[in-house]
Amino acid sequence: MRITTRIKKSKQMIRLVRPLELTSSDLIYPIFVREDGKKFGIPSMKGQSYLSLADAVKTCQQAVALGIPAVMVFGVLKAKDADGSAALKKNGFHGKIFKRLKKEFGEDLVLISNVCLCDFTVEEFCVYSKNGKVLNEKTAEMLGKIAVVHAEAGADVVAPAAMCDGQVRHMRAALDKAGYEDVSVMSYIKTDSVLFQPFFEAMTLSKEPRKGINSSKFRTDIVNEKMFMQKVDLDIGEGADMVIVKPALVNLDLILRVKQMHPTIPIAAYQVSGEYAINKLLSENAHVDEEKIMMESLNSIKRAGADMILTYHALEAAKLIRKGK
Ligand SMILES: [Zn+2]
Repeated sequence: MRITTRIKKSKQMIRLVRPLELTSSDLIYPIFVREDGKKFGIPSMKGQSYLSLADAVKTCQQAVALGIPAVMVFGVLKAKDADGSAALKKNGFHGKIFKRLKKEFGEDLVLISNVCLCDFTVEEFCVYSKNGKVLNEKTAEMLGKIAVVHAEAGADVVAPAAMCDGQVRHMRAALDKAGYEDVSVMSYIKTDSVLFQPFFEAMTLSKEPRKGINSSKFRTDIVNEKMFMQKVDLDIGEGADMVIVKPALVNLDLILRVKQMHPTIPIAAYQVSGEYAINKLLSENAHVDEEKIMMESLNSIKRAGADMILTYHALEAAKLIRKGK
């Protein structure tokens, strides 16, 4: 008689029959580096800290030692202006981060740059707008220019995050023109979600709610799989080397769908701030084992088809993987 528990006889038997296993090389750690150099806990993302540039080096050393191959860099500026002019400044802060990390780690760490206007503009929106109208071409062009600045400073991968039309095409063209043919474009495809909220709070300089164009306009309708897949197809058609499905938890089916429709394209999934917060809240308020919920959520994303996972749990997860948990 076939007994399904037979192949669960021991811990090693369970490991032996697994078709895939989460490894530290699947993980990408997002880091928040502050221009003002202050280091403190991020209020909306318990357990995560803002880093100074020197701290960022130490955190990256930790990541490398744990076998994590990549970081996603978010730069938190001291001041922003209407046009986001700091993005193109000579010796701008983002450039400084990439130069420093590249010098320190060379090929041992893949540096991924989040490219979006909200990092630089005072309105903190992902696109330029005028009288409530989105200036799509102006935005896409600017994203291309920012990508070149980051590539020049040492970013290996640029990740356009505004989700405006043609952003990948503009970025690829700008990189190629500037001689950065070897820099990859990893395109974010996001469904509209409240799970981004703790991250917005982490990246916003003021405590005021955001004004201007609602960026949910650019994210796809969570109900509409076709809308999401159309954006994936367009971005890959425009030259995206890799795509990021974001958030992960509510889009596990879409991760699988992208894998089926584009089997040759590396797929990342972003376990976003709200997902991270859910895991933290469960362990703090509902007696859930934090390590278990963390690994359960990451393994489900891997099983859905992600080749890479961006997660705030990266360091902790890599430590557990090392222990064979
Ligand atoms: Zn943005």
